Amino acid sequence: MTDRGYFGEFGGSFIPEILVATFEELVQAYEDARSDPSFWSQFVSLMGSYSCRPTPLTYAENLTKHFGGARIFVKREDLNHTGAHKVNNVMGQGLLVQRMGKGRVIAETGAGQHGVATATMAAKFGFSCTVYMGEVDVERQRPNVFWMERLGAEVVTVKEGTRILKDAINEAFRDWVTNMDDTHYVLGTACGPHPFPEMVSWLQSIIGQEARVQVLEASGRLPTRVYACVGGGSNAMGLFGGFFDDDVELVGVEAGGRGLDSSAHASRLASADATRGVAQGYKTFFLQDRDGQMRETHSVAAGLDYVGVSPILANLRETGRVRFEAATDAEVVEALALTMRKEGLIPALESAHAFVQAFKEAPELSSDDVILINQSGRGDKDIFTIADAFDDPGWKAFICEKARHYDAR
Ligand SMILES: *Cc1c(COP(=O)(O)O)cnc(C)c1O
Repeated sequence: MTDRGYFGEFGGSFIPEILVATFEELVQAYEDARSDPSFWSQFVSLMGSYSCRPTPLTYAENLTKHFGGARIFVKREDLNHTGAHKVNNVMGQGLLVQRMGKGRVIAETGAGQHGVATATMAAKFGFSCTVYMGEVDVERQRPNVFWMERLGAEVVTVKEGTRILKDAINEAFRDWVTNMDDTHYVLGTACGPHPFPEMVSWLQSIIGQEARVQVLEASGRLPTRVYACVGGGSNAMGLFGGFFDDDVELVGVEAGGRGLDSSAHASRLASADATRGVAQGYKTFFLQDRDGQMRETHSVAAGLDYVGVSPILANLRETGRVRFEAATDAEVVEALALTMRKEGLIPALESAHAFVQAFKEAPELSSDDVILINQSGRGDKDIFTIADAFDDPGWKAFICEKARHYDAR
């Protein structure tokens, strides 16, 4: 497809010598699977019986009336098992691990969502599983730590460095170097060294393949525009994958945090703040300082709070095939509130970023136009963060009461 995983100038594989053979093995397994139609049918069948695929397409009739422009459709990745699109990638990698004959998986996780998905996959396939997580994230994301442990994973708290995602990534690589014979590293998004960006995008393209058929059937035409939020870029690559060859405008929406003119955001492609660099084994745009130190990022949505971005999306920005926008925390909370009230849908805070941009543009379009939003995950599992984001007084009182209850015991 590309020369050693390059997309324009981005991507590549900047890995320690000791991992070269392991990566070669993975590239081989991936290429074999990709050229073997039975792999894809096995994958589709597994996702059908385990994770509600094909996920439905919902016509958002009330929101359409509310904005009075384009017809709005929502792809329901929230209905997947574990509540988001992440399971598509991890189950696909699980099948690859089986093919490679390995018995152990490791993963890094920031918000914990990818860790939960990986622990779920490991339980289903009978693999042993270790998840690396920064100490700060372990404290912030206790519910996900609880689930990973119940699912049989060992959660290793990383106390090095700034004790967040990037430190967890370093530890996961250290583990892999030591245990590569029997261990596969399940990367969670369309980033990292080749073949991960391409492989994860391919597995996630199940979203776009389904959506294209569904939107044609439901509306009789292809969408004018499709919208997806962009953290590492996997759900966006998955949805866009169904429409690259069509005359459809592709819009990626990043975390604008407290605004692009503040430094508290995680926008690499819609802002001018990110610069080219090589880190974590690949080349892309990173939010970094002049010395190449990664900057602190911020988003109300933990899953979008990341310094790098898919090298494939970086290249698609350069070629102009994908347009990038950013949504602020405040806009996200407002769009989420409207979506819940109008449709009874509860998007994850991450997904609500895509809704923000679609809502800004829907009124300018006509009723002949169709727009498609990827609801990458469901928000009801994120009650701790969403209730915080809404500053809900009843919720606060409940948490305080719980704390008193535990203190009294
Ligand atoms: C993790 C996550 C994201 C961001 O990851 P991508 O790789 O950019 O898709 C988006 N939405 C939800 C619901 C997530 O859990």
